[in-house]
Amino acid sequence: MSSRVALTEPRVRAAPVAAAERADPAAGLLDRFGRKATDLRLSLIDKCNLRCTYCMPENGLPWLKRQQLLTADEVRRLVRIGVELLGIRELRLTGGEPLVRKDLEEILAGIRAEHPELPVALTTNAIGLESRAEGLVEAGLTRVNISLDSVHRETFAKLTRRDQLDAVLRGVEAAAEAGLTPLKINAVLVRGINDTQAPDLLDWALENGFELRFIEQMPLEAEKTWQREATVTAAETRRLLNRHYRLEPVAEDRGGAPAELFDVYNGDRPGREKSAADGGSVPPRGRVGIIASVTEPFCAACTRTRITAEGRVMSCLFSRDEVDLMDLLRSGADDQAVAQRWAEAMWAKPAAHGTDRPGFELPGFTRPKRSMSAIGG
Ligand code: SAM
Ligand code: SF4
Repeated sequence: MSSRVALTEPRVRAAPVAAAERADPAAGLLDRFGRKATDLRLSLIDKCNLRCTYCMPENGLPWLKRQQLLTADEVRRLVRIGVELLGIRELRLTGGEPLVRKDLEEILAGIRAEHPELPVALTTNAIGLESRAEGLVEAGLTRVNISLDSVHRETFAKLTRRDQLDAVLRGVEAAAEAGLTPLKINAVLVRGINDTQAPDLLDWALENGFELRFIEQMPLEAEKTWQREATVTAAETRRLLNRHYRLEPVAEDRGGAPAELFDVYNGDRPGREKSAADGGSVPPRGRVGIIASVTEPFCAACTRTRITAEGRVMSCLFSRDEVDLMDLLRSGADDQAVAQRWAEAMWAKPAAHGTDRPGFELPGFTRPKRSMSAIGG
C-alpha cells in the first residue's frame, strides 16, 4: 500500500450555522460561526513523565514554574464561571500529565462539591494511576481516557522513550476496578513503528471491554517533524483493521464528538460468523473510534473550549491567539469580567484548524505557538 496521502480537499462535516452578532456571555461561549462551546478541556500542568515522539522532545521542554500554574482554587473558580455563567456542561482535565499534580484529588473534590452532576473526565498516560484510581473516583472523577499506543513492551518504549508499559497496564486495570468504565483508550499510530500493530491493540481492548480510539497524528509535536504524507490516515486505519475485523459504522448522530464510531465484528477469516448487518444475529465484539482530525476534520461541529495550565483560553487546538485569564484571576476581577473575556476569546474562534479552512498542508495554516503537551489535548 502506498504511504502517500491523497491531497484531496478536506471537508468539514456540516456547514457552519448562521453567524451570530457579537460576544455575549449570556449566550454562552458562542463563536462567529454559530458554534457553541459546552465542553471545557482544562490543562493542569505542562510537565510529563513520558516523551511520546509525536508530542514531546527527548529532553522535555522548559516547564512552567509552580507559581505560573493555575492553583486548585483558580481551577475551581474557572470551572464555576464556565458552568454557572457560560453554559459548560462537560469537563476534561488534561495536561501534560495531570497525574503529576499531587493536588489532583483536591482539585476534583473542590469541583465536585460545587457541581454534583458535572461529568468530569481525565486524560492520562496512567503512570501512577494504580495507586490513585480509587481516590480519584471518591474525589469525583467520572471517566478516564488512557493513552496507550502499543501493548508490546519494546514498541511502547520506542514510542514513549520510557520503559513503562507495565506501570500503564497496572493503571488501566486499577481504573477499570475503580469503576471508571466504559474505559477509553487513546492511540496514535506512527508509520513504521506501531501501525501494523493496530489489530493487536484492538484485540486487547476488545478482550478487556475497553473502547479504543485511534487519533490521526496532528502537527502538534514540539520537534516540528510532522508530514502529512507520513500520517497514518483514518482510511488507512480502517483498512488495517478490516484485514482482521469487520467494521460497520454506528448509525447514530455523532454531534460534536470527534470520533467516528464503528461496531467491530470478527473478520473475514474462514469460519467467521455473520454479523447482524449481514442478516446474522451475532452481536458486535465492541466498538472502535477513529478521530480523523487531519483527513476528515470535524471543525464545523466543534463544541470545545480550552484553557492552558497557566490560565490562557485557546479557542481551538490550533489557535495562534491565546487570551489570558490568569491576570484577571490574580488582580481581583469579578466573575463577570472573567466570563466576558472568555466569551470574547471564543467569539474569535477560527473556522477550522486555526484558520479559515481546514487543511494542515494548505496555505494559511500556521502551527500554534505551543505543542500538544503545553496546550492540553
Ligand atoms: N499525558 C496525557 C495523555 O497522554 O493522555 C494527557 C495529555 S496528551 C497531550 C492528550 C492526548 O493527546 C493523548 O491521547 C495523546 O496521544 C494525544 N496527542 C499528543 N500529541 C499528539 C499529536 N501530535 N497528534 C495527535 N494526538 C496527539
Ligand atoms: Fe506526555 Fe501525554 Fe505528551 Fe505522551 S502524549 S508526552 S504522555 S503529554
